[in-house]
Amino acid sequence: MTPQPAALAAKLTARIPTLKQWSEAKPDELLHILETQAYPLQTGKDGDSVYLVDHLWALHRDELTPARQSRLRALVDTDNLSPAASFNVNAYCLALQGESTQLVQLWRSEFDARVTFAGLFVLMECFRHVKLQDLTVINEMIDMIDQPTWLFWGRLKAAVTFACLRPGQQTNAAEVIRKVVHNNTTPEIIATRERALQQLATDPALWSRCEYCCYGNVHSNSIIATPCPVCLGFGTILG
Ligand SMILES: [Zn+2]
Repeated sequence: MTPQPAALAAKLTARIPTLKQWSEAKPDELLHILETQAYPLQTGKDGDSVYLVDHLWALHRDELTPARQSRLRALVDTDNLSPAASFNVNAYCLALQGESTQLVQLWRSEFDARVTFAGLFVLMECFRHVKLQDLTVINEMIDMIDQPTWLFWGRLKAAVTFACLRPGQQTNAAEVIRKVVHNNTTPEIIATRERALQQLATDPALWSRCEYCCYGNVHSNSIIATPCPVCLGFGTILG
């Protein structure tokens, strides 16, 4: 049964204090929720397990020590996590261990039902983390966002990924970004596009890690993370 708008609004309002609490929580507290399945009743495991593992990745990545990664891995394909959350944990742990080959295998596993549309974005994030240099895969990503069926936000997110992978002159990444992230949008999105193009055209040695965020992410009280206002979500700054 489709929830009525008023019921849905009430459900979302009830969720706000929980999200605020999670935003302020330490990694071990978030892991404990996953391990004990202490998901709030109004949302439940399907949404919250994905939310929590994505939050750990986005905002506590450098705190995911081998011991914490082991705790996360122990939950994969168990009742503690939804199938999507299990997929994400597996991919994130591979990225943290620098397992590029296995990530590419996942990208190519077209018969694996877990590789959903959302899963593709997770893999792109992981490619960004391991600084994938496989031009075949990078060109596949570029071709994907060039398809008219892709939603605008997805194209923008992918543009950030390409810029971070810095395929430089070896691909048509800049040309595609200019084409699909068009001018008929908000100033914030245009600024992100220009930042992506700048990064693509600049020597990687000129950029250093942004100290104001976690890989381009900053805390938000209502969603998993928001792009860092200093580096616009790229995680690096000039100089
Ligand atoms: Zn930043």
